[in-house]
Amino acid sequence: MALRTPIRVHIVGRPQFDIEEFLGFLAASRMDWRRSAGAGQAEELIEAAGRVCYMSFGVNQSERSNVEYIRNLVDMGHESVLEHVNWSFVITGISRALSHQIVRHRVGFAFSQLSQQYHDESDAEFAMPAEIEGNPRAEAVWERAVSTAKEAYSEILQLLDQKPEHGESSQLNPRESRRAIRSAARSVLPGCTETTLFMTANARALRHFFTVRGGIPGDREMRDLALELFRLVTREAPAVFFDFRIAKLPDGSEMVQRVSTGPTQ
Ligand SMILES: Cc1cc2nc3c(=O)[nH]c(=O)nc-3n(C[C@H](O)[C@H](O)[C@H](O)COP(=O)(O)OP(=O)(O)OC[C@H]3O[C@@H](n4cnc5c(N)ncnc54)[C@H](O)[C@@H]3O)c2cc1C
Repeated sequence: MALRTPIRVHIVGRPQFDIEEFLGFLAASRMDWRRSAGAGQAEELIEAAGRVCYMSFGVNQSERSNVEYIRNLVDMGHESVLEHVNWSFVITGISRALSHQIVRHRVGFAFSQLSQQYHDESDAEFAMPAEIEGNPRAEAVWERAVSTAKEAYSEILQLLDQKPEHGESSQLNPRESRRAIRSAARSVLPGCTETTLFMTANARALRHFFTVRGGIPGDREMRDLALELFRLVTREAPAVFFDFRIAKLPDGSEMVQRVSTGPTQ
């Protein structure tokens, strides 16, 4: 039985800012933009969108750097500007139970998840919770339960496949019959069955996600996912996540924490 497979997050989509086109737009308005050295595409996209609101280019541009500009947007609550920046991720090694919590986030997220109706789960892996790992007796109980469920899944698949005349699926075309059989069989799979999620989220939605999900001490799997996501997006656009950091809990595990940045928070 596979033990705890690490959560893996691949960043597969990122914002692309057509700076030449944008500078062309400014030139046509006889304006220019003093850009901050070192700002990435995501960060410049946000700054550009924010500045368009006030046309604060050229003589109207303040001395604020890109980092300060984004921080000011957040401090003012002008966060819709952050929605222009999206990243796409492929996430593996998470449980179906965790995915159920993630997809509750309705705003600024898009999800595509491995289907248990179209995908045969006979070779499914299972994500052992961190709390169980390292406790030999709990591990044994967990492995026994998961093995039993896995065997039951395969057995139900086989039984329903062999005798379609006894099931609802007998009236269905082969594709729908397979769907019906897998739907019936998956009913015995546990919440720790691993899944794959293709997830797109904008910067504002991710900030909200880190705030409400990143630091719950009793939700280790969620924290681990938040940490993976956070490490990736802070590499992509540190200015956007200026008020978050990685902190340690007393047990040594980590969390994503939003820190107070001043009186405007
Ligand atoms: C500690 C914790 C415990 C939880 N326990 C449970 C539980 O026991 N049972 C359960 O069902 N869920 C539970 N949840 C899930 C929670 O209720 C939310 O569904 C989930 O966290 C998504 O958060 P959200 O609605 O803020 O995010 P999103 O859906 O992404 O929404 C983002 C923000 O948009 C605004 N918004 C979105 N939709 C609306 C709307 N319809 N009307 C007004 N404003 C809106 C809100 O400001 C919201 O915060 C829990 C979450 C946490 C963090």
